[in-house]
Amino acid sequence: MEILGKYGKEDLAILYIARYDEKVIEFVESVQPPVSREQKWVLILSTLYGCPLGCLMCDAGEYFFGEITKEGMIAQIDHMISPRFPDRKIPIPKLKIQFARMGEPTLNENVLELLRELPKIYDAPGLMPCVSTVAPSSSKKFLNDLISIKNNLYPPGQFQLQFSIHSTDPELRHKWIPGKIWSFQEIADFGEKWYKSGDRKITLNFAVAKDSKIEPKIIAKFFDPLKYFIKLTPLNPTSNVLKHKLDSGITKENVKDFILKSKFEDLGYKTMISIGNWEENEIGSNCGQFATQYIKGDVEIKKDYTCNDYNLLN
Ligand code: SF4
Repeated sequence: MEILGKYGKEDLAILYIARYDEKVIEFVESVQPPVSREQKWVLILSTLYGCPLGCLMCDAGEYFFGEITKEGMIAQIDHMISPRFPDRKIPIPKLKIQFARMGEPTLNENVLELLRELPKIYDAPGLMPCVSTVAPSSSKKFLNDLISIKNNLYPPGQFQLQFSIHSTDPELRHKWIPGKIWSFQEIADFGEKWYKSGDRKITLNFAVAKDSKIEPKIIAKFFDPLKYFIKLTPLNPTSNVLKHKLDSGITKENVKDFILKSKFEDLGYKTMISIGNWEENEIGSNCGQFATQYIKGDVEIKKDYTCNDYNLLN
């Protein structure tokens, strides 16, 4: 793997752009101050070269050049882990490996192969994989296989599953996530098979735009607050968000008393506004954004990179 550039800050998030198998990928490591890296470290991997789904707000969906191999995903992890833990022994209580950068992970069977092997490759008692999906209709076999991987290979509570559903209005949901996707009933039926006592709650994630339609009472018809967790995220300023003139419904100004959060809480849902870090958003380290800009020739990366040696040209 050839690292083309890196951008960000050691104490917050570092985004890497790399060439692997003649194609461009990006991956991220991040910490969440004030929690130290010794306590929690998050590695965010790409699973596809681009993404065929083309969600409205995501830059990764502008092209698709295929699946990343298991070795290609291990190369991403190793690049972040090796400088600190060359022997692959990682004593961090929470080591999250998120399959949430470029690509819908359920479209790549190599992700399942990697998840079967991860506990053997890394000596990491805090290892917690996090699979985030928009639930394309083709994901059935992948997600069913994932149930036995979670149950057989990971300790209870050390596997996270997220469905990014974005809206309770079917039309708007399909506008944001083109193509065939599971209905809420299909997600709920799967959730019954997935969830067992001791598991982490399944996350329902909404990227919230100003004119989003999100009705907590509709969610309550399908999803049990004892098994599901609500995550509300600001709409990140990707090129596609700007192109489609979408505005984030969650801002620095309104985040403190965001009414939608209390509406979910009133129905019994544990609810989080996942703002990460505003500075991280300003860095622009959003899903697929940099690799796409690199491929389009919109960025310049210095060869002898240091942090911040990544210059947007427009
Ligand atoms: S949001 Fe996820 S599924 Fe949608 S285009 Fe981006 S990477 Fe693909």
